[in-house]
Parts: sequence; C-alpha cells; structure tokens
Amino acid sequence: MKTIYCTHRIPDVGLRMLRDKGYEVDVAENEHPLTKEQFLENIRKKPYDGVITLLTDHVDHEAFDACPTAKIWANYAVGFNNVEVNQAKERGVTVTNTAGTSSRAVAEHTVALMLALSTRLDEGDRFMREGKYKGWDPDLLIGVDLSESTVGLIGTGAIGHEVASMLYKGFGAKIIYSDPIINKQIEDEFHAPRFSIEDTIRQADFVSLHVPLMPETHHLMNAERLSLMKPTAFLINTSRGPVIDENALVQSLRDKKFRGAGLDVFEFEPHVTEGLLQLENVIVTPHIASAREKARNAMSVAVANNLISFFETGKGINVVTR
Ligand code: NAD
Repeated sequence: MKTIYCTHRIPDVGLRMLRDKGYEVDVAENEHPLTKEQFLENIRKKPYDGVITLLTDHVDHEAFDACPTAKIWANYAVGFNNVEVNQAKERGVTVTNTAGTSSRAVAEHTVALMLALSTRLDEGDRFMREGKYKGWDPDLLIGVDLSESTVGLIGTGAIGHEVASMLYKGFGAKIIYSDPIINKQIEDEFHAPRFSIEDTIRQADFVSLHVPLMPETHHLMNAERLSLMKPTAFLINTSRGPVIDENALVQSLRDKKFRGAGLDVFEFEPHVTEGLLQLENVIVTPHIASAREKARNAMSVAVANNLISFFETGKGINVVTR
C-alpha cells in the first residue's frame, strides 16, 4: 500500500481517487499553508511514498532529505518555481505539476483585470461608495475600448493562448506577442505577429505576462522595460510575482509612467510592496486567478492521476523533471 502526504486540503475528488486505489492519504489539517518547519516536521512522520505540495511549500534539498522515501512530489499548481527541480533530478525524484488544468480560469481572470481597468470599474465603485456621484457627467471616468486595443502577450503557452482567443474572438483586440518559441497557432488563428519583448512592450496598450517563473524570467519586467510602456498602457500580471521588479513597479506607477496595473500575484506574497496598495491606478487580487470550482477540481484530479500513473507505471503524466 502507498502512503501519501498532502500539505493542505485540496478538493476531495482527487483524494477520493487515491483512496479508491487503496492508498493511505494523510492531509494536513492546518487552516493556512504550512510553515517550512511544520512542512519538514510533518513529512518526517512516516516513510511517505509521495507528497502533494502547494506553491507555498518550498520543496528543496531539506524537504527531499526529510522524506527520502518519497519518489514523487505532485505540485498542486501549474507553476513549479517552489520546487528545486535540479535537486530533484539529481536525486532521481519525479516532480509533476497540473499543466493546462486552470488555463481557462486564469485567462478569464486576466481579461477581468483588463476590463476592470479599461472600464474603470473599481474607480466607479469607489466613487459611488464615497458618495461622490452627483449626476451623469459626459466627462466622468472615461475608459478605453478593449476592441481598439493592442494586447501584448509575454508568453503564449496554455494561458497566453486562452487570453489571445478570448480577446481576439470576443473583443476584436489586436494581439501581438513575445515568446522565445515561435507560436504558429497564435500567428495563424489570431493574426498575431511576434516581436522582441521590448518591441512588444513599446506597442501594447495592455502588456500581459504569462511566463513561468525561472531564473531567466525573474524581474523580466525591470525598471528599464517598465520605462518602455506607453504612458496610456496597462500592465497585467497573473503569472508569478517576481516576474516584475515590484519596487520599480511602484515607482513607475507613482510617477505615472504608464496608466495602471492589474495584479493577481506579488513579488513577496503574501506581503505587498510598500506603497502599492495606496496607488489609485492599481487593481489587486489575492492570487485567485485559478480559484474556480472547475479548475480546482481539475487540479486535484491531475494531482491524483500523476500519483496513480507514477505508482502503476513508474512515470508521472505532467512531469517537470525530464
Ligand atoms: P506554459 O508552460 O504553457 O507557457 C509558458 C510560455 O512562456 C511558453 O510558451 C514559454 O515558451 C514562454 N516563455 C518562457 N520564457 C519566456 C520569456 N522569457 N519571454 C516570453 N515568453 C517566455 O504555462 P501556462 O500554463 O501558460 O502558465 C504560465 C504561468 O502562469 C505558470 O508558469 C504559472 O506560474 C502561472 N499561473 C498562475 C496562476 C494564478 O493563479 N495566478 C495559475 C496558473 C498558472
């Protein structure tokens, strides 16, 4: 019988699949993500065969040392920047993610942030609640049309593709993109030309980030690249916080170098860089882009399928340690 440790409650559907296989699954009962100490202490308790982790768990050499029997670590997330992948490879440990399970939800959230900014939705809401509305005014809170906008996608994998599809088909927006890999599908389906990252940023009314966090994409949006944004443009980030230099972002927004930002992820989350929340031209959400029932259930099922496949065939499905 296989024993699995899960560092937080996840939707029951995946856990049931594992238990139906006769596996023993211990789920942490904590309300919040485990601290590093709790995480290490808990995985030391039994010779687990596999561990289910969240993006808040640091799966590093200490974790692998704490539970050397676990040959598969199934991350309940698409991103796997919380895992020391090279360390896992060296130890012959398999790491999996939930690729593709939440693309639609994250794309919807991305478009929601764009729409909220373009229609000045939250500004209007605040305006009403503060009792400032004194009657219809032709000049009040004029927004921009997504249909007239050029959207620059940085990264056109599963999520970038969904965003392009929604914006092109639903709004008639012009799509341009930057990705080290030529994306023929995006080019053919949405007539989207590929540019360097700098040229994409220079031309876009919305710059939307959809890259994985890795050493090459850390601070991809640094002060220099932020300075290339059009003064009228918006920056959207639903990928990972450290892809933007958040201090440089606060400074650029304070100086009104560009129009605003929609952010679901933060460089030092859950901490938010000083000054960001005081800015009027920013919309923030607490890393909830995939927080829909369908996506979360699909993530849970993907985790279970990865574990089952690994235990039955020796191979996971969404393996990131190839
Ligand atoms: P994916 O692997 O399908 O696509 C990533 C794309 O980025 C690829 O096309 C890749 O070639 C491209 N890329 C890599 N380096 C680049 C660079 N320097 N410049 C431009 N493009 C580059 O991943 P995905 O499913 O689209 O997810 C993207 C990221 O979104 C994930 O890695 C994850 O961190 C994040 N995410 C966030 C949430 C959330 O809740 N906010 C949910 C799911 C995923």
